[in-house]
Amino acid sequence: LPCLLHLLTVQDVHHGNGTQEVFYSDPSVLYISLHRYDNGNFFPGSGHPSEVGASPGEGFNVNVGWMGGLNPPMGDAEYLAAFRAVVMPIAHEFSPDVVLVSAGFDAVEGHSSSLGGYKVTAKCFGFLTRQLMSLAGGKVVLALEGGHDLKAICDASEACVSALLGMEVEPLSQSVLDQKPCENAVLSLQKVIQIHGENTTCHVTSRTISNMTLRGLVALWKIHAVSAIASLSMGSLTSDR
Ligand SMILES: [Zn+2]
Repeated sequence: LPCLLHLLTVQDVHHGNGTQEVFYSDPSVLYISLHRYDNGNFFPGSGHPSEVGASPGEGFNVNVGWMGGLNPPMGDAEYLAAFRAVVMPIAHEFSPDVVLVSAGFDAVEGHSSSLGGYKVTAKCFGFLTRQLMSLAGGKVVLALEGGHDLKAICDASEACVSALLGMEVEPLSQSVLDQKPCENAVLSLQKVIQIHGENTTCHVTSRTISNMTLRGLVALWKIHAVSAIASLSMGSLTSDR
């Protein structure tokens, strides 16, 4: 049987430490987590970008660990930038057969600082879901895994399910689209790109993934990262999808 490639994204505000451990050496699962990290000072403390996987899964574990605390809290501009600079380029190159999302909604606005304190809108999560649906022929599975504020969970779940159903979703406002990600977010994304960019020598012996693919992935990623971070305008981030 051909091996299925899975993209697993963890969008909970906490690092997906258990899931990372399960697939750490598995190159057939590309794991990408976006989470509050703050030098390991936010629960559970793991998820540094240098946790890149172990051979033969080296390079297939991607941690976007946000730095800088709540100065300011990460929101739509920062999550859109992460998708543009890191998640979507690497995911398209990986070309998964199935996309699985750990849909934790504690990054949604409405959570206290100890529970994340981020300000991502429900609408933005719907938008991100639509982006993921451009992968794997639209085979996207969301598993509700987190969130502590009922209104935030309801609103974000509704936005994501609407996206999955192909319903017309309310567009993000122009002010959101024009907003640039904060400096701490740009630094966090640059760190991820720097670490994975240096990772080109890793040898991948997967059944279906060649070195070529991984190198291509990194090269492509760098190009996207440069254009995405250097000249970041959220309008340009959304116009090319
Ligand atoms: Zn959580």
